[in-house]
Amino acid sequence: MKISKIFLYDEPSVPELKITRLGKFIEDTFGIKVKIRKNIFSIANDSDAKQIAACRIFNTKKPFETHVPTNDEIDFEKSTFGDSGKNENIIMYDGFEFQEIINNSVANNESDFDQFHIVFTNKLTCTYDEDDFRYHGRAIICSNPTIISTTGIIEAPAKPREYYFELISKMSQGLNVDSMKKKYQGTYLEYHDKRLSTIAEGYIMQAIFYYLTGEPFCDTLECRLNNPHWQKDLLYSQIKVGKLCEKHKKILENL
Ligand SMILES: [Zn+2]
Repeated sequence: MKISKIFLYDEPSVPELKITRLGKFIEDTFGIKVKIRKNIFSIANDSDAKQIAACRIFNTKKPFETHVPTNDEIDFEKSTFGDSGKNENIIMYDGFEFQEIINNSVANNESDFDQFHIVFTNKLTCTYDEDDFRYHGRAIICSNPTIISTTGIIEAPAKPREYYFELISKMSQGLNVDSMKKKYQGTYLEYHDKRLSTIAEGYIMQAIFYYLTGEPFCDTLECRLNNPHWQKDLLYSQIKVGKLCEKHKKILENL
């Protein structure tokens, strides 16, 4: 598979992504021309709103079932098309259904195999896992278009175990959790974290490796293609290591 052009769609409510910088990162790393686009939903219509509302997840322990959306839910989606900052509460969407809707809204004259689309969104994409029979948040849905969820980057890799234990015990004691959040600050990504642009580079690399080689992920933490379980591993691979392992470096050179 060859890519002649990459379309990179911004998520304007997350300016920390620095989309122009990410476009340059792709051109420098892969030598592929990039076209920066506004939010993918700036071209969405009423039918897209209905379809997106229909792929909401309500029961995280059951495989996907199409939801019959209410008018309020459809109106909410429409309002986020103009202002994605309205996605305040976290709503779970089935990632594969979501990807299919985005795929259908990509212009026909831009859907050749050598035209690759990477879409940032703050909507939370999730997939049902047959191993533990429940939905999990996902930072990335690899396909063309690839979806990268900024909310997924923050919510899908888990915070330290101690964080959850302490959160539960503090909440049951009725204590303010702010002091605890301070204690763990820096060990996980927060909304509007300044490190998001660098972290996003790693997910972009995974998307492009997926399309060019069929293999987006790497097992070692010493590689930006690592798909982490934990926030600390995400920060380690993308910030501390910040490069590909030897094996993937070679694959990149030969692309
Ligand atoms: Zn690797």
